Amino acid sequence: MTKILFFNYCALPVYAIILIALFVKGAVLGRSNRYFILLNAMSLVATVFDIMANKLYAVRPLSHAEVIAVAAFEYGYFLLHNLTMPVYQIYLIHVMKTEFLFKNKPVMILLNSLTALIILLLITNPFTGWIFTVTSAEGYMRGRYLILLYPIVVLFFLFGVTYLIRYRKLIDRWKWIAYISLYAFNVCAVAVQYFNMHYLVEMFSKALAFLFIILIVYRPEASLDQSVLLPNWREYRRHVKNILLTKQRVEIAVVKFINANNIRTYLGEQRYNKYVRNVAAPFVELLRRSKLDFDLYYEAPGTLYLIYKEPPADFNIKKELNDIYRSVRGELSEIEHTGAKLEPRVLIMNCPADLDNYDDIIHLGHEFYGLTSVYNTITYASDIVGSKNFKIESNMDSILERAITENSLEMYYQPIYNIKKKRFDSAEALIRLKDKDYGFISPGIFIPAAEARGLILPIGDFVIEEVFRFISENDLKKYGIDHIEPNLSVAQCLQPELADKIKELQDKYNIDPKQVNFEITETFFDNIGEIMDNNIRRIRELGYAFSLDDYGTGYSNIQRVSRLPFAIIKIDKSLIDIIGTPDGYAIIKNTINMMKDINKQIVAEGVETKETLEMLEELGCDYIQGFYFSKPLPVPEFMEFIKNNNK
Ligand code: C2E
Ligand code: MG
Ligand code: MG
Repeated sequence: MTKILFFNYCALPVYAIILIALFVKGAVLGRSNRYFILLNAMSLVATVFDIMANKLYAVRPLSHAEVIAVAAFEYGYFLLHNLTMPVYQIYLIHVMKTEFLFKNKPVMILLNSLTALIILLLITNPFTGWIFTVTSAEGYMRGRYLILLYPIVVLFFLFGVTYLIRYRKLIDRWKWIAYISLYAFNVCAVAVQYFNMHYLVEMFSKALAFLFIILIVYRPEASLDQSVLLPNWREYRRHVKNILLTKQRVEIAVVKFINANNIRTYLGEQRYNKYVRNVAAPFVELLRRSKLDFDLYYEAPGTLYLIYKEPPADFNIKKELNDIYRSVRGELSEIEHTGAKLEPRVLIMNCPADLDNYDDIIHLGHEFYGLTSVYNTITYASDIVGSKNFKIESNMDSILERAITENSLEMYYQPIYNIKKKRFDSAEALIRLKDKDYGFISPGIFIPAAEARGLILPIGDFVIEEVFRFISENDLKKYGIDHIEPNLSVAQCLQPELADKIKELQDKYNIDPKQVNFEITETFFDNIGEIMDNNIRRIRELGYAFSLDDYGTGYSNIQRVSRLPFAIIKIDKSLIDIIGTPDGYAIIKNTINMMKDINKQIVAEGVETKETLEMLEELGCDYIQGFYFSKPLPVPEFMEFIKNNNK
């Protein structure tokens, strides 16, 4: 007898350990976790019932009380054991976030009916004796129709395996193996028991399968953000993939604290983490009370993702967020008291109505606050994704691909006015992209995108070659143009052969280096290394000069400017724009004076009005570039402009 029960005894501690582990790992919240706990608890109790029943009818005949006890234990065992299959199925559906696929579907009705049938067979058993009987003389006896339970179990089995195979893409391979192993363990157990009736291995094999699942699947350290103990960004991305693969309709709210980094620096790592945890807890609590079917994810620093389906009719995310804000205000006030204020921005995306592409959803979650007014606390994705800029951003790969292969890039030239000479004596070369679907695309957008995609080199090569060709094909000197200024990007200067390329093109087009001034920005010198250093030195040795672009936007380190070999400093439009204010005027005045003292020449960029021009003239600025004189022009118009204005 003990031999028969050996495996059942072994199964007990395994279930107990799994249950303890689930609580210790904190895997107790959320529906899928609760189903897994239920499964293990059901199996644990079923095993106990199985042991008790078997022990009791070992000695026959049974007393009346023993008959009742054995029958009770057997009912308990049959019920709990046979219901694990349906519960496991529901558990899988929740784990793989596919509940909505099965809501009110015929297959679900079938599964529910089968479950009901199991219960019905057991409830009617005292009268029919179909499944089993317990008598004083014989003890436990299999019923005539016990066999009826088998096709039901087989149906569940088939459904479960088909389901896992059909939706295997929704989870990691190893998790999938762990989940499907339950069926494999079951088949083995049935086979063993078939050949050797004395070994009750079913409960034990199920315990092993659950153990396998908890070891492979329940690794909260891999899916929880350790600073706030919420599911992390990886889990969010997986959930988004799942939503798209299963074509679910959900709403995603992204809450981004745009100054989280500053607050962290301000508070220090430890106090910041504690603060975030304290703010996150009431957040979760409030959502839970709202009866919303939601998932919450955290991405450091300071971004929360909330995914929810079919909100109740009275659910209003705006109100909800306000309530949450009110509830955490106590926590916040301690921080805000010291002068730091958390600044939340919220994005609401309807999927798939607003967005149905993985990259766009992830990208917009990261970038939305830059695509909307700084005064918008709540932004709706529908307002952004309709915009031309967003469409361009999300189709950038094909746009750039086309631009390079179909030659839709063109160089424009913006005249630069020399105040002393009272004529235009140079021009900036600016690239233009005209896409056949999206029309004109600003280089301010596509140049950074090309840099991010490693496509800036072919574009940069194009720019240099076009500018050299332009210089060689037009007699610029005759019309008073001394030099042209092309822009160089950081990535271009990181290629060791840049100087050789320039020399090659110089020979090909027979260029005098004095006719070219390369514009580079100060950000160059953040990552200056040997290659860049060599490039700048060698290009200068070839006889080219450099201009410093966008002065006044970066850190504008004046000591660095004085050390570097710039002939010209270009003051950025953003600085020129504030010349009308007392502070702006003072800044520009002193910048110009300082630059003059270290023998630099100054270009003011973005001059649009006569007043600005006059102020700059008075302050001793050397060159003016801006729409006041001319926009960037295509070659024929540029030549026309120069001929007419440089008489
Ligand atoms: P940047 O080099 O600072 O170029 C000056 C920008 O200011 C140009 O914008 C020009 O059209 C604009 N601008 C000039 N005067 C005015 C004005 O009076 N009002 C206004 N509102 N704007 C004015 P653009 O052509 O859109 O270029 C933007 C940026 O893209 C450039 O800034 C430069 O950083 C980059 N870029 C343009 N062409 C090239 C290129 O061929 N290669 C590289 N690497 N970058 C380029
Ligand atoms: Mg420039
Ligand atoms: Mg500039």
